[in-house]
Amino acid sequence: MAAATTTSPAAGRLPFSPRPNANPARLSFPASLKTPSKPVSLHLRHLTVPSAAAAAAPNPDSSSSSIPDLLSDKPRDECGVVGVIGDPDASYLCSVALHALQHRGQEGAGIVSTHRPSSDSPVSLRSVTGLGLVSQVFQDKSKLDYLSGTAAIGHVRYSTAGSASSLANVQPFLAGYRFGQLAVAHNGNLVNYSSLRASLEDSGSIFNTSSDTEVILHLIANSNSRPLISRIVDACEALQGAYSLLFLTKNKLFAARDPYGFRPLVLGRLRRPSRGIVFASETCALDLIEADYEREVNPGEVIFVDGHDMSISSLCLMPPKPRKACIFEHIYFALPNSIVFGRAVYSSRYSFGSTLAKESPVANADVVIPVPDSGFYAALGYASQSGVPFQQGLIRSHYVGRTFIQPEQNIRDLAVRLKLAPVKGILEGKSVVVVDDSIVRGTTSSKIVRLIKDAGAREVHMRIASPPIVGSCYYGVDTPRSEELISNKMDVEGVRNAIGCDSLAFLSLESLRNLLGKEAPSYCDACFSGNYPVLPIENEADRLLAEEEE
Ligand code: SF4
Repeated sequence: MAAATTTSPAAGRLPFSPRPNANPARLSFPASLKTPSKPVSLHLRHLTVPSAAAAAAPNPDSSSSSIPDLLSDKPRDECGVVGVIGDPDASYLCSVALHALQHRGQEGAGIVSTHRPSSDSPVSLRSVTGLGLVSQVFQDKSKLDYLSGTAAIGHVRYSTAGSASSLANVQPFLAGYRFGQLAVAHNGNLVNYSSLRASLEDSGSIFNTSSDTEVILHLIANSNSRPLISRIVDACEALQGAYSLLFLTKNKLFAARDPYGFRPLVLGRLRRPSRGIVFASETCALDLIEADYEREVNPGEVIFVDGHDMSISSLCLMPPKPRKACIFEHIYFALPNSIVFGRAVYSSRYSFGSTLAKESPVANADVVIPVPDSGFYAALGYASQSGVPFQQGLIRSHYVGRTFIQPEQNIRDLAVRLKLAPVKGILEGKSVVVVDDSIVRGTTSSKIVRLIKDAGAREVHMRIASPPIVGSCYYGVDTPRSEELISNKMDVEGVRNAIGCDSLAFLSLESLRNLLGKEAPSYCDACFSGNYPVLPIENEADRLLAEEEE
């Protein structure tokens, strides 16, 4: 039964109350979409301060995933969202928090804030978006000054749907419709985007972007329900797939998470005197702006904060489904200093590595090295469990940026050497255990093995701190098509042979689930098991169609 709670900063929780417009039949997507009470119009606007320089500039502080074209054999991060309400520095705090989430997307960044020129002026939403890193988009302080106001939402983008290079696709999206202005920031991927968009276009909606997120704004604009929270519920009930969403109006901030809870979203409170409320994809963003972690936004929950009195209300979107949190957040995506889905990422990775050492020891190994940075904590766990010394046998360059990306194959083959340098003194003549977080296509792994052997290693034993990836992700993580996944094409011995190492072992799916204990059923592991919580039929149909057209 859907329900709502309300709290104020000083008070405890107020009792649950029924959510408005809780009749599922009336809220169903086709009825409310096809019979709007009046013509619906939505004006999607980017009040954008263009950041052409940012788009063209070299990337001086690239993180491990900021050069995905160089190390292209990894799933790519999704997106990161942050929201702050109740603080006069809301947009500044958003920009700092977005820095902490930069690993979740490097293609674009943006912030929308509630701007009020003077105390007797009306509030309006302002937006700055741009291509590039947060530091590039907001390097000019005047952009944050422009984004004044006590509430703001921000987004870092990696495109899982929609064109990567289009400024129009950079979020947050800011739209004007019959009830005013509304901004949205989305982390996730909708599996029924194509049919929703087709249905909306049949009803007369005109789209400005190729992003699945725009569908959400149109659904809200087309809903007949009042107030806005009910329109958000209407929209969310039509969505299938993964979404962690932040919405901003001139006086309210809403946070919503899909009923399966695929992607993370947490709530915190600023320690500074304002005691403002913060939402973020990961707790590392809270840490950076000195906010205390309070709790996750629950799967299927909408939380809304009223900027007038800072009261917090909570509403169940729909009857809860079994949670299916993405286990890949713990394997690769999230920063190790984050708490994601209630678990410390660092300790997850460490335990994946130590279990791997128990399952797949290497006799007479001399040294354990990580593939930096994502294999670091699993390698520590492996070394500790096995008693084999841990060393940093590969040094990662922090100064290789997108500007190095060249189309020529011979340059691309140098990519791994640009990014990773072997330490000969550690590797020469040794039997080396190399710990990585995952293998996707196998292309980078084979280059790393060659790099280590070229540095003089006697034997190279790859140990992978996750099970073999056998299926694509449809919930906000960009993985190659299943046919391109090396573990979908061959068994472990075939993969070992392909990447050229002396031995290869993956963490077993059984061990991964055992490590999660009784929480295991509440995690999605579809890319390892093929058990998809929401069937990706539409995505597959789209893909087959695209292949036919090629
Ligand atoms: Fe995460 Fe894999 Fe599930 Fe996608 S399929 S949500 S990457 S566990």
